[in-house]
Amino acid sequence: MAELVQQYLDQIRDEHAGVTDGAVASYIPELANVDPMGFGLSLSSSDGFVYESGDAATEFTIQSISKPFTYALALDQAGHDAVDAKIGVEPSGEAFNEISVDDTTKTPKNPMINAGAIAAVSLVPGATPDDRFGCIHEFYSACAGRRLDIDHAVYASEKATGSRNRAIAYMLQSFGVLGDEPDDVLDVYFRQCSIKVTSTDLARMAATLARGGINPATGRRVTDAKVVQRALSVMVTCGMYDAAGDWVSAVGLPAKSGVGGGIIAVLPGQLGIGVYSPLLDAKGNSVRGVRVCRSLSEKLGLHFLTVTRESCSAIRARYDVCDGVRVYELHGDLLFAGAEQVLRTIERDRDDYRIAILEVSRVDDINDAAREMLAGMRTVLNTAGKEGFLVDPDNKVVRPASEQDYDAVLFSTLDDAAEAARRRLDRHG
Ligand code: GLN
Repeated sequence: MAELVQQYLDQIRDEHAGVTDGAVASYIPELANVDPMGFGLSLSSSDGFVYESGDAATEFTIQSISKPFTYALALDQAGHDAVDAKIGVEPSGEAFNEISVDDTTKTPKNPMINAGAIAAVSLVPGATPDDRFGCIHEFYSACAGRRLDIDHAVYASEKATGSRNRAIAYMLQSFGVLGDEPDDVLDVYFRQCSIKVTSTDLARMAATLARGGINPATGRRVTDAKVVQRALSVMVTCGMYDAAGDWVSAVGLPAKSGVGGGIIAVLPGQLGIGVYSPLLDAKGNSVRGVRVCRSLSEKLGLHFLTVTRESCSAIRARYDVCDGVRVYELHGDLLFAGAEQVLRTIERDRDDYRIAILEVSRVDDINDAAREMLAGMRTVLNTAGKEGFLVDPDNKVVRPASEQDYDAVLFSTLDDAAEAARRRLDRHG
Protein backbone atom coordinates (compact mmCIF):
# COMPACT_ATOMS: atom_id res chain seq x y z
CA MET A 1 0.00 0.00 0.00
CA ALA A 2 2.95 2.31 0.65
CA GLU A 3 3.48 2.36 -3.16
CA LEU A 4 0.44 4.59 -3.52
CA VAL A 5 1.96 7.35 -1.38
CA GLN A 6 5.33 6.77 -3.05
CA GLN A 7 3.71 7.31 -6.46
CA TYR A 8 2.19 10.59 -5.30
CA LEU A 9 5.55 11.88 -4.15
CA ASP A 10 7.41 10.72 -7.28
CA GLN A 11 4.76 12.30 -9.44
CA ILE A 12 4.87 15.64 -7.63
CA ARG A 13 8.65 15.63 -7.75
CA ASP A 14 8.64 14.77 -11.48
CA GLU A 15 6.27 17.63 -12.20
CA HIS A 16 8.83 20.15 -10.97
CA ALA A 17 12.05 18.41 -11.97
CA GLY A 18 12.22 20.41 -15.20
CA VAL A 19 12.19 23.78 -13.42
CA THR A 20 15.61 25.40 -13.65
CA ASP A 21 14.75 28.92 -12.47
CA GLY A 22 16.75 30.48 -9.68
CA ALA A 23 20.40 30.35 -8.72
CA VAL A 24 22.42 28.54 -6.09
CA ALA A 25 23.62 30.66 -3.16
CA SER A 26 27.00 32.09 -4.03
CA TYR A 27 27.94 34.35 -1.13
CA ILE A 28 30.55 31.72 -0.28
CA PRO A 29 32.18 29.44 -2.90
CA GLU A 30 31.33 26.26 -0.92
CA LEU A 31 27.61 26.80 -1.41
CA ALA A 32 28.00 27.50 -5.13
CA ASN A 33 29.75 24.15 -5.46
CA VAL A 34 26.65 21.96 -5.37
CA ASP A 35 24.81 20.18 -8.17
CA PRO A 36 22.11 22.75 -9.04
CA MET A 37 19.81 19.99 -10.23
CA GLY A 38 19.93 18.04 -6.97
CA PHE A 39 16.32 17.40 -5.93
CA GLY A 40 15.14 15.39 -2.96
CA LEU A 41 11.75 15.04 -1.31
CA SER A 42 10.94 13.20 1.92
CA LEU A 43 7.80 12.86 3.98
CA SER A 44 7.54 11.41 7.47
CA SER A 45 4.22 10.26 8.87
CA SER A 46 3.43 11.15 12.46
CA ASP A 47 4.33 7.59 13.47
CA GLY A 48 7.75 7.87 11.88
CA PHE A 49 7.36 6.10 8.52
CA VAL A 50 9.45 7.91 5.90
CA TYR A 51 8.81 8.11 2.14
CA GLU A 52 11.66 9.33 -0.05
CA SER A 53 11.86 10.51 -3.64
CA GLY A 54 14.93 11.57 -5.65
CA ASP A 55 18.08 12.78 -3.91
CA ALA A 56 16.79 12.22 -0.41
CA ALA A 57 20.21 11.02 0.79
CA THR A 58 22.16 14.06 -0.46
CA GLU A 59 23.59 16.13 2.38
CA PHE A 60 23.50 19.92 2.33
CA THR A 61 23.87 22.57 5.01
CA ILE A 62 20.84 23.30 7.13
CA GLN A 63 21.46 27.09 7.12
CA SER A 64 18.41 29.04 8.28
CA ILE A 65 16.30 25.94 8.88
CA SER A 66 18.38 25.82 12.06
CA LYS A 67 16.57 28.92 13.33
CA PRO A 68 13.29 27.44 14.63
CA PHE A 69 15.23 24.63 16.31
CA THR A 70 17.65 26.87 18.17
CA TYR A 71 14.72 29.10 19.10
CA ALA A 72 12.90 26.04 20.47
CA LEU A 73 15.99 25.01 22.38
CA ALA A 74 16.37 28.51 23.86
CA LEU A 75 12.71 28.46 24.97
CA ASP A 76 13.18 25.00 26.42
CA GLN A 77 16.39 25.83 28.29
CA ALA A 78 16.01 29.51 29.22
CA GLY A 79 12.21 29.66 29.50
CA HIS A 80 9.65 31.68 27.57
CA ASP A 81 9.98 34.88 29.62
CA ALA A 82 13.74 35.14 29.21
CA VAL A 83 13.46 34.52 25.48
CA ASP A 84 10.55 36.93 25.01
CA ALA A 85 12.53 39.66 26.73
CA LYS A 86 15.13 39.45 23.96
CA ILE A 87 13.33 38.33 20.78
CA GLY A 88 9.95 39.46 19.38
CA VAL A 89 7.44 37.40 17.43
CA GLU A 90 6.31 39.93 14.83
CA PRO A 91 6.84 39.27 11.13
CA SER A 92 9.34 41.78 9.84
CA GLY A 93 8.53 41.74 6.13
CA GLU A 94 12.27 42.24 5.75
CA ALA A 95 15.01 40.20 4.13
CA PHE A 96 16.55 37.53 6.37
CA ASN A 97 19.84 39.39 6.80
CA GLU A 98 18.36 42.84 7.48
CA ILE A 99 20.38 44.80 10.04
CA SER A 100 17.37 45.75 12.14
CA VAL A 101 15.68 45.74 15.53
CA ASP A 102 12.14 46.68 16.52
CA ASP A 103 11.79 50.48 16.75
CA THR A 104 10.45 50.52 20.30
CA THR A 105 11.77 47.40 22.01
CA LYS A 106 15.20 47.53 20.34
CA THR A 107 15.16 43.74 20.15
CA PRO A 108 15.09 41.57 17.01
CA LYS A 109 11.61 41.46 15.49
CA ASN A 110 11.47 37.68 15.31
CA PRO A 111 13.69 34.60 15.63
CA MET A 112 13.50 33.63 11.94
CA ILE A 113 15.63 36.52 10.66
CA ASN A 114 19.36 36.46 11.35
CA ALA A 115 19.17 39.11 14.11
CA GLY A 116 16.67 37.01 16.09
CA ALA A 117 18.49 33.78 15.36
CA ILE A 118 21.80 35.16 16.63
CA ALA A 119 20.04 36.38 19.77
CA ALA A 120 18.50 32.90 20.19
CA VAL A 121 21.96 31.31 20.05
CA SER A 122 23.09 33.55 22.92
CA LEU A 123 20.14 32.35 25.02
CA VAL A 124 21.17 28.70 24.81
CA PRO A 125 23.07 27.96 28.01
CA GLY A 126 26.76 27.11 27.82
CA ALA A 127 29.92 28.33 29.52
CA THR A 128 31.91 28.25 26.28
CA PRO A 129 31.03 28.36 22.56
CA ASP A 130 31.82 24.63 22.44
CA ASP A 131 29.35 23.89 25.25
CA ARG A 132 26.69 25.96 23.62
CA PHE A 133 27.22 24.40 20.24
CA GLY A 134 27.29 20.94 21.83
CA CYS A 135 23.83 21.58 23.25
CA ILE A 136 22.52 22.76 19.86
CA HIS A 137 24.15 19.92 17.95
CA GLU A 138 22.72 17.36 20.35
CA PHE A 139 19.24 18.89 20.05
CA TYR A 140 19.16 18.90 16.24
CA SER A 141 20.47 15.34 16.21
CA ALA A 142 17.76 14.23 18.64
CA CYS A 143 15.12 15.82 16.38
CA ALA A 144 16.57 14.08 13.30
CA GLY A 145 17.08 10.79 15.12
CA ARG A 146 20.73 10.46 14.10
CA ARG A 147 24.04 12.15 14.86
CA LEU A 148 24.38 14.98 12.32
CA ASP A 149 27.79 16.12 10.99
CA ILE A 150 29.20 19.55 10.26
CA ASP A 151 30.41 20.83 6.91
CA HIS A 152 33.72 22.29 8.07
CA ALA A 153 34.46 24.03 4.78
CA VAL A 154 31.14 25.89 4.86
CA TYR A 155 31.69 26.80 8.51
CA ALA A 156 35.17 28.18 7.86
CA SER A 157 33.95 30.13 4.88
CA GLU A 158 30.91 31.58 6.67
CA LYS A 159 33.16 32.63 9.50
CA ALA A 160 35.71 34.24 7.20
CA THR A 161 33.16 36.23 5.22
CA GLY A 162 30.29 36.93 7.62
CA SER A 163 30.61 40.73 7.82
CA ARG A 164 26.90 41.27 7.62
CA ASN A 165 26.18 38.86 10.47
CA ARG A 166 28.99 40.48 12.41
CA ALA A 167 27.31 43.85 11.89
CA ILE A 168 24.07 42.38 13.20
CA ALA A 169 25.71 40.80 16.26
CA TYR A 170 27.55 43.98 17.24
CA MET A 171 24.38 45.99 16.77
CA LEU A 172 22.59 43.55 19.08
CA GLN A 173 25.35 43.88 21.64
CA SER A 174 25.01 47.66 21.58
CA PHE A 175 21.31 47.28 22.42
CA GLY A 176 22.09 44.89 25.27
CA VAL A 177 20.44 41.93 23.55
CA LEU A 178 23.47 39.61 23.54
CA GLY A 179 24.50 38.16 26.87
CA ASP A 180 27.88 37.18 25.47
CA GLU A 181 30.73 38.27 23.20
CA PRO A 182 29.39 38.83 19.66
CA ASP A 183 32.19 36.83 18.04
CA ASP A 184 31.63 33.86 20.36
CA VAL A 185 27.90 33.87 19.63
CA LEU A 186 28.54 34.19 15.90
CA ASP A 187 30.97 31.30 15.94
CA VAL A 188 28.17 29.08 17.27
CA TYR A 189 25.68 30.54 14.79
CA PHE A 190 28.02 29.81 11.86
CA ARG A 191 28.53 26.27 13.13
CA GLN A 192 24.81 25.63 13.51
CA CYS A 193 24.18 26.88 9.94
CA SER A 194 26.86 24.45 8.70
CA ILE A 195 25.24 21.31 10.11
CA LYS A 196 24.59 18.85 7.30
CA VAL A 197 21.17 17.32 6.75
CA THR A 198 19.33 15.39 4.03
CA SER A 199 15.72 15.97 3.01
CA THR A 200 14.92 12.89 5.09
CA ASP A 201 16.55 14.41 8.17
CA LEU A 202 14.41 17.49 7.62
CA ALA A 203 11.25 15.37 7.27
CA ARG A 204 12.09 13.63 10.54
CA MET A 205 12.82 16.94 12.28
CA ALA A 206 9.52 18.28 10.93
CA ALA A 207 7.69 15.17 12.16
CA THR A 208 9.17 15.74 15.61
CA LEU A 209 7.55 19.19 15.59
CA ALA A 210 4.35 17.69 14.14
CA ARG A 211 4.25 15.37 17.15
CA GLY A 212 4.58 18.20 19.64
CA GLY A 213 8.20 17.44 20.52
CA ILE A 214 8.35 13.65 20.36
CA ASN A 215 10.57 12.17 17.66
CA PRO A 216 8.23 9.52 16.24
CA ALA A 217 11.11 7.36 14.99
CA THR A 218 13.04 7.16 18.27
CA GLY A 219 10.11 7.71 20.62
CA ARG A 220 12.21 10.24 22.51
CA ARG A 221 10.70 13.50 23.75
CA VAL A 222 13.08 16.32 22.80
CA THR A 223 11.06 19.25 24.11
CA ASP A 224 7.54 20.00 25.30
CA ALA A 225 4.40 20.85 23.35
CA LYS A 226 4.30 24.49 24.49
CA VAL A 227 7.76 25.11 23.05
CA VAL A 228 6.77 23.45 19.78
CA GLN A 229 3.57 25.48 19.60
CA ARG A 230 5.62 28.67 19.79
CA ALA A 231 8.22 27.52 17.27
CA LEU A 232 5.46 26.56 14.81
CA SER A 233 3.75 29.90 15.36
CA VAL A 234 6.78 31.89 14.27
CA MET A 235 7.30 29.50 11.37
CA VAL A 236 3.77 30.38 10.21
CA THR A 237 4.22 34.12 10.51
CA CYS A 238 7.90 34.55 9.68
CA GLY A 239 9.29 31.27 8.36
CA MET A 240 9.42 32.20 4.70
CA TYR A 241 10.76 35.73 5.28
CA ASP A 242 9.05 38.41 3.25
CA ALA A 243 7.15 35.70 1.36
CA ALA A 244 5.36 34.59 4.54
CA GLY A 245 1.89 35.93 3.60
CA ASP A 246 1.93 34.33 0.19
CA TRP A 247 3.17 31.08 1.71
CA VAL A 248 0.46 30.86 4.36
CA SER A 249 -2.25 31.56 1.77
CA ALA A 250 -1.01 29.14 -0.86
CA VAL A 251 0.61 26.36 1.15
CA GLY A 252 -0.69 26.77 4.69
CA LEU A 253 2.00 24.82 6.52
CA PRO A 254 4.39 26.17 9.16
CA ALA A 255 7.70 26.12 7.32
CA LYS A 256 11.30 27.29 7.19
CA SER A 257 13.71 27.64 4.31
CA GLY A 258 17.50 27.82 4.17
CA VAL A 259 19.93 29.08 1.54
CA GLY A 260 21.43 25.58 1.36
CA GLY A 261 18.29 24.72 -0.65
CA GLY A 262 16.26 23.02 2.06
CA ILE A 263 12.69 23.62 3.15
CA ILE A 264 11.00 22.04 6.12
CA ALA A 265 7.19 22.04 6.43
CA VAL A 266 5.00 20.72 9.23
CA LEU A 267 1.37 19.66 9.38
CA PRO A 268 0.74 19.61 13.13
CA GLY A 269 -0.40 16.25 14.40
CA GLN A 270 -0.04 14.68 10.97
CA LEU A 271 3.26 14.79 9.11
CA GLY A 272 6.59 16.39 8.34
CA ILE A 273 8.05 17.29 4.94
CA GLY A 274 11.64 17.93 3.86
CA VAL A 275 12.61 19.18 0.39
CA TYR A 276 16.02 19.83 -1.12
CA SER A 277 16.72 21.78 -4.29
CA PRO A 278 19.49 24.38 -4.17
CA LEU A 279 18.23 26.79 -6.87
CA LEU A 280 16.95 29.80 -4.92
CA ASP A 281 14.59 32.66 -5.71
CA ALA A 282 15.40 36.30 -4.94
CA LYS A 283 14.22 35.87 -1.35
CA GLY A 284 16.52 32.94 -0.68
CA ASN A 285 13.81 30.26 -0.79
CA SER A 286 14.30 27.11 -2.89
CA VAL A 287 12.34 27.60 -6.14
CA ARG A 288 11.44 23.96 -6.63
CA GLY A 289 11.04 23.53 -2.88
CA VAL A 290 8.34 26.18 -2.77
CA ARG A 291 6.60 24.67 -5.80
CA VAL A 292 6.71 21.14 -4.41
CA CYS A 293 5.22 22.30 -1.12
CA ARG A 294 2.50 24.14 -2.99
CA SER A 295 1.62 21.00 -4.99
CA LEU A 296 1.78 18.71 -1.98
CA SER A 297 -0.52 21.00 -0.05
CA GLU A 298 -3.01 21.26 -2.92
CA LYS A 299 -3.00 17.63 -4.04
CA LEU A 300 -2.92 16.05 -0.60
CA GLY A 301 -5.10 18.72 1.06
CA LEU A 302 -2.52 19.72 3.67
CA HIS A 303 -3.41 23.39 4.26
CA PHE A 304 -3.64 23.73 8.02
CA LEU A 305 -6.66 26.01 7.83
CA THR A 306 -8.72 23.61 5.74
CA VAL A 307 -12.08 23.29 7.45
CA THR A 308 -13.11 19.81 6.44
CA ARG A 309 -15.71 19.04 9.02
CA GLU A 310 -17.00 20.11 12.34
CA SER A 311 -14.28 18.84 14.60
CA CYS A 312 -16.40 18.82 17.71
CA SER A 313 -19.23 16.31 17.31
CA ALA A 314 -18.28 14.55 20.48
CA ILE A 315 -21.61 12.83 21.21
CA ARG A 316 -21.72 9.48 19.42
CA ALA A 317 -24.99 8.24 20.93
CA ARG A 318 -27.81 9.50 23.13
CA TYR A 319 -30.57 7.19 24.48
CA ASP A 320 -32.63 6.33 27.55
CA VAL A 321 -31.88 3.15 29.53
CA CYS A 322 -35.20 3.55 31.37
CA ASP A 323 -37.65 6.29 32.07
CA GLY A 324 -35.75 9.23 33.59
CA VAL A 325 -32.22 7.98 32.85
CA ARG A 326 -30.50 9.25 29.73
CA VAL A 327 -27.09 8.14 28.49
CA TYR A 328 -24.68 10.32 26.52
CA GLU A 329 -21.80 8.42 24.93
CA LEU A 330 -18.85 10.57 23.96
CA HIS A 331 -15.99 9.73 21.63
CA GLY A 332 -13.01 11.21 19.79
CA ASP A 333 -10.76 13.95 21.06
CA LEU A 334 -12.56 16.17 23.50
CA LEU A 335 -11.41 19.78 23.57
CA PHE A 336 -13.15 22.99 24.56
CA ALA A 337 -15.54 23.18 21.59
CA GLY A 338 -16.64 19.55 21.91
CA ALA A 339 -17.17 19.83 25.67
CA GLU A 340 -19.19 23.00 25.16
CA GLN A 341 -21.47 21.16 22.76
CA VAL A 342 -21.89 18.26 25.19
CA LEU A 343 -22.83 20.56 28.07
CA ARG A 344 -25.29 22.48 25.93
CA THR A 345 -26.99 19.29 24.73
CA ILE A 346 -27.32 17.90 28.25
CA GLU A 347 -28.69 21.24 29.44
CA ARG A 348 -31.20 21.44 26.58
CA ASP A 349 -32.54 17.92 27.34
CA ARG A 350 -32.88 18.64 31.04
CA ASP A 351 -36.64 18.18 31.23
CA ASP A 352 -36.34 14.68 29.72
CA TYR A 353 -34.35 12.97 32.46
CA ARG A 354 -33.67 12.90 36.18
CA ILE A 355 -30.25 11.31 35.87
CA ALA A 356 -27.86 11.91 32.99
CA ILE A 357 -25.10 9.33 32.50
CA LEU A 358 -22.00 10.54 30.70
CA GLU A 359 -20.06 7.67 29.18
CA VAL A 360 -16.49 8.78 28.34
CA SER A 361 -14.62 5.50 27.93
CA ARG A 362 -14.32 6.01 24.16
CA VAL A 363 -12.81 9.50 24.44
CA ASP A 364 -9.27 9.36 23.05
CA ASP A 365 -7.77 12.56 24.29
CA ILE A 366 -9.12 15.31 26.51
CA ASN A 367 -7.59 18.64 27.46
CA ASP A 368 -7.78 20.47 30.79
CA ALA A 369 -10.48 22.87 29.63
CA ALA A 370 -12.81 20.03 28.58
CA ARG A 371 -12.01 18.05 31.72
CA GLU A 372 -12.97 20.93 33.98
CA MET A 373 -16.16 21.58 32.08
CA LEU A 374 -17.30 17.96 32.30
CA ALA A 375 -16.31 17.74 35.95
CA GLY A 376 -18.32 20.89 36.67
CA MET A 377 -21.40 19.50 34.93
CA ARG A 378 -22.58 17.64 38.01
CA THR A 379 -22.81 20.79 40.14
CA VAL A 380 -24.88 22.47 37.47
CA LEU A 381 -27.22 19.46 37.27
CA ASN A 382 -27.54 19.25 41.06
CA THR A 383 -28.56 22.90 41.21
CA ALA A 384 -31.36 22.05 38.81
CA GLY A 385 -32.43 19.10 40.98
CA LYS A 386 -30.89 16.49 38.67
CA GLU A 387 -28.04 14.06 39.00
CA GLY A 388 -25.07 13.37 36.73
CA PHE A 389 -23.28 9.99 36.65
CA LEU A 390 -19.98 9.38 35.00
CA VAL A 391 -18.69 6.20 33.36
CA ASP A 392 -14.97 6.82 33.34
CA PRO A 393 -13.02 3.56 33.76
CA ASP A 394 -9.70 5.07 32.69
CA ASN A 395 -9.92 8.25 34.76
CA LYS A 396 -10.01 10.52 31.75
CA VAL A 397 -12.26 13.13 33.33
CA VAL A 398 -11.87 12.32 37.01
CA ARG A 399 -8.22 12.13 37.96
CA PRO A 400 -7.44 9.27 40.39
CA ALA A 401 -6.48 11.79 43.07
CA SER A 402 -9.95 13.35 43.14
CA GLU A 403 -11.92 10.10 42.85
CA GLN A 404 -13.36 10.40 46.37
CA ASP A 405 -15.12 13.65 45.39
CA TYR A 406 -17.08 11.60 42.90
CA ASP A 407 -18.05 8.89 45.35
CA ALA A 408 -21.39 7.34 44.35
CA VAL A 409 -21.50 8.91 40.89
CA LEU A 410 -18.37 7.44 39.26
CA PHE A 411 -18.63 4.03 37.57
CA SER A 412 -16.42 1.75 35.51
CA THR A 413 -19.17 0.30 33.32
CA LEU A 414 -22.35 1.62 31.82
CA ASP A 415 -24.28 -1.35 33.27
CA ASP A 416 -23.19 -0.44 36.80
CA ALA A 417 -24.17 3.18 36.26
CA ALA A 418 -27.55 2.27 34.77
CA GLU A 419 -28.25 -0.14 37.65
CA ALA A 420 -27.35 2.49 40.25
CA ALA A 421 -29.51 5.05 38.46
CA ARG A 422 -32.52 2.70 38.49
CA ARG A 423 -32.07 1.96 42.17
CA ARG A 424 -31.85 5.61 42.99
CA LEU A 425 -35.02 6.43 41.07
CA ASP A 426 -36.85 3.55 42.79
CA ARG A 427 -35.72 4.79 46.16
CA HIS A 428 -36.84 8.31 45.45
CA GLY A 429 -40.08 7.19 43.83
N1 GLN B 1 24.28 31.28 6.96
C1 GLN B 1 23.31 32.12 6.33
C2 GLN B 1 23.35 33.51 6.91
O1 GLN B 1 23.33 33.65 8.09
C3 GLN B 1 21.94 31.53 6.47
C4 GLN B 1 20.90 32.34 5.78
C5 GLN B 1 19.72 31.56 5.28
O2 GLN B 1 19.71 30.35 5.17
N2 GLN B 1 18.72 32.29 4.87
O3 GLN B 1 23.42 34.49 6.20
